[in-house]
Amino acid sequence: MPSYRELLQQVKSEIEEIDVPRAAELRASESPVFVDVRDRNEWDEGHIPGAIHVPRGNLESRIEAAVPDRDADVVVYCASGARSAFAAKALEELGYENVSSLAGGFNEWKRSGFGFDLPRVLAEEKRRRYSRHLLIPEVGEEGQLRLLDSRMLLIGAGGLGSPASLYLAAAGVGTLGIVDDDVVDDSNLQRQIIHSTERLGDSKADSAKRTIEALNPDVTVQVFKERLTSENVDRILGEGWDVIVDGADNFPTRYLLNDASVWHDIPVVHGSIFRFEGQTTVFKPKEGPCYRCLFPQPPPPEMAPSCAEGGVLGVLPGIVGSLQANEALKLALGIGEPLIGRLLLFDALETQFTEISLRRDPDCPVCGDSSTITDYIDYVEFCAGPAPQVAS
Ligand SMILES: [Zn+2]
Repeated sequence: MPSYRELLQQVKSEIEEIDVPRAAELRASESPVFVDVRDRNEWDEGHIPGAIHVPRGNLESRIEAAVPDRDADVVVYCASGARSAFAAKALEELGYENVSSLAGGFNEWKRSGFGFDLPRVLAEEKRRRYSRHLLIPEVGEEGQLRLLDSRMLLIGAGGLGSPASLYLAAAGVGTLGIVDDDVVDDSNLQRQIIHSTERLGDSKADSAKRTIEALNPDVTVQVFKERLTSENVDRILGEGWDVIVDGADNFPTRYLLNDASVWHDIPVVHGSIFRFEGQTTVFKPKEGPCYRCLFPQPPPPEMAPSCAEGGVLGVLPGIVGSLQANEALKLALGIGEPLIGRLLLFDALETQFTEISLRRDPDCPVCGDSSTITDYIDYVEFCAGPAPQVAS
C-alpha cells in the first residue's frame, strides 16, 4: 500500500501541473475554466476571479453540468495543490482532455499578489435563519441577499400592515418604512396583531418597530409618525422604495399614494377589507392600471361612505395582509406572476376567491397618455350615507 505522500507523488506525475505565473498568463490570454475544488467556507473567503466552485466531494457528479465541453482548457485548484492533483486525475478519467492542476494552489496565487474575489455571501447565522428560503431555488442565497437589500414602505400599521410587516420582517426584508400617525387603541387589538395590550396609547409606528426588531434584528425600521399628505408625500416616497404596501383605510390617502407612486414609479400592493370581504391587487406603473384607471375621482359626498365604525372579521386582514406580503416578496425577488391588472377578491363567509381582470385606461387622468392631473390633491375625507366606512 502506498502512503499518502507516495500516492500524491504518483498522481502528480500522471497529470499536468502549472505554476501560478503560467496560470495567470493563461487566464489573461486563453481564459481557461478555473475550477475551485475547495470546501464552501474556503471559497467564501476568496477565490480566483471568474472561477467556478465545484467542491471536490461533488466533482464527479457536478462537473458535466458545470463544464460540458470535455475539450475545454480546465485549471483545477485547491488551497495548496494536493486536492486539485487528485481532482485533475479524476477529470482525466472522466474524459477531460486538457486539465491541469495549479501547483501551490490558491495560497500561492494570493502570495504572488494576484487579485481574488471575495464573494458576497450570507453569514452562517443568516444562513440558518433563512435556511427555508435558501432551499427554494427561486429564492436561494441570491434572492435572500436581494431581500436583505430591499426597501419596502408600509402605509399604515393597522389590520393589513400588521401581518404584512411581520411576514416581510421575518422574510428578511432589510428596510421597512412604516407610515402611521395613529396610536394603539383597545379596539385595534382584535385584528392588529403587531400591537399588544401593553402598548395601548403608544404610537403605532413605534409599537410596530419594537415588535419587528424583536422578531428580526436584520431589519431596519424607519418610522414616519405622520399622515401621508401632499406636503410630505414626495419626501417620504423620495427615500427610495422598491415596493409600497398600501394598508390605508381612507380614500384621500389612497388617491394621494396612487398619484405619488405613479410619479415616483414605485409599485403598490393594494389591499382593502370590509366585514367578510377582502381584495388585493398590484398597481405597477407602466405595466398595469393604477387606482385612478379604475376610479378616476373620489365619490361625490352623497355617495361617500359613512364614518361610522366599520366592522371586520378579525382574521380577514390577516389573510389579505399576508397576500399583500406575498405579492411584495415576489416583486422584490422578480419571481412568479404578480397581481398586476388582476383584482383578487376574497369572501371569508363562503371561503371563495374570485379574480377580475383590470385594464389600464389610456384616458386615465394620472397614468394615461395625456394626463390631466399633474399636482397632488388633498381630498377632504367626508362622510355620508348609512354604509359604514371600510375598516383597517
Ligand atoms: Zn391610471
